[in-house]
Amino acid sequence: MKKDYYEILGVPRNASQEEIKRAYKRLIKKWHPDLNPNNKEEAERKFKEIQEAYEVLSDPEKRAMYDKFGYVGDVPPSGGRGYSYSGRIPSLDEILKEFFGETFGSFFGKSFGGEDIFDVFFGEGTSTKSRERQRSKKGEDIEIVLTVDFKEAISGGRRTIEYERYDRCPHCGGTGAEPGSGYRTCPKCDGTGYVRQESRTPFGYFVTQTVCDMCGGTGKIIEKVCHVCGGTGRVRTSRSITVNIPAGVSDGTRLRIPGGGNIGENGGDYGDLYITIRAKEDYRFKRSGSDLIYETTIDYTEAILGTVIEVPLPEGGTTTLKIPAGTAHGTIFRLKKMGVPDQYGRRGDLLVRVYVDIPKRLSRQERNLLKEIAKLKGLK
Ligand SMILES: [Zn+2]
Ligand SMILES: [Zn+2]
Repeated sequence: MKKDYYEILGVPRNASQEEIKRAYKRLIKKWHPDLNPNNKEEAERKFKEIQEAYEVLSDPEKRAMYDKFGYVGDVPPSGGRGYSYSGRIPSLDEILKEFFGETFGSFFGKSFGGEDIFDVFFGEGTSTKSRERQRSKKGEDIEIVLTVDFKEAISGGRRTIEYERYDRCPHCGGTGAEPGSGYRTCPKCDGTGYVRQESRTPFGYFVTQTVCDMCGGTGKIIEKVCHVCGGTGRVRTSRSITVNIPAGVSDGTRLRIPGGGNIGENGGDYGDLYITIRAKEDYRFKRSGSDLIYETTIDYTEAILGTVIEVPLPEGGTTTLKIPAGTAHGTIFRLKKMGVPDQYGRRGDLLVRVYVDIPKRLSRQERNLLKEIAKLKGLK
């Protein structure tokens, strides 16, 4: 069984060592078993292939052999040096150490201002980005449920709602520092926001930078924290907003109010507010998309002779509906454009389903009259 190492890594046959490294890093992120705890078996299988392909292609000698014979070691070419992959999967620490030197291992698993270690150290993120993000993290979203009655869901409307969220601390203006007191330079990183780690290894001299954990990368620390917000820069406040309820809104609809959520710590942006609409039902109507179904029962004499009935409207009031003579049980009458508006403002229909009540018990007089009718029709 020949394996196409180039295909496994997703690189062209003439890929440079740089490209091969980049592809490998990408695949570590995607398939290393430690990063796939919910999918460990598949990840292990895939990662073994990836590791084998990388071990061969990243070694110029093995790669040349593979290019020439199409395999390395599975069927050792006579006189050639075979390659057999041990099947062992290196841990993330080992991989990082190989790439960055010894000191790196101990930092594994830490988050750097919202970017994971691979983004920061595998060169996909930028240090300024992670620093920015650390300083101003967006606030959390807030979810609330708004119950509207049936009529309101049909015709839409405006509702003022009150809810609690974190907003800028009025005492410190969101800085987290007690007014009058300032900031001082972070003693751990000397204001750079970064801690440098230097190490000498048999492979060379390595310098790695990590975000300072004392100041969170800002380079400064508060001298005296705000006594109102405790240094977070935000406090719980009550807020009221007016929400437009779209006409025809269906139960479970989620409205997003950008910026309606909590403010972030240390002056970060507001999160969003999500309002889930709970539309109450009206026992008289069933909803079917933008159509409404109203069911009613008429007497058998009305079905035979015809009648006029009153039909309630979803937004209140009633309308009249002519039931023609000879209406069968279960007949549906369609009242055009009296249903629910859709998002484009078009209205569905109101369907009236008419059931005919056939009585089980008759009065003596009613029975006699019906017998007369039966006789008239020649029935027994
Ligand atoms: Zn610091
Ligand atoms: Zn404050």
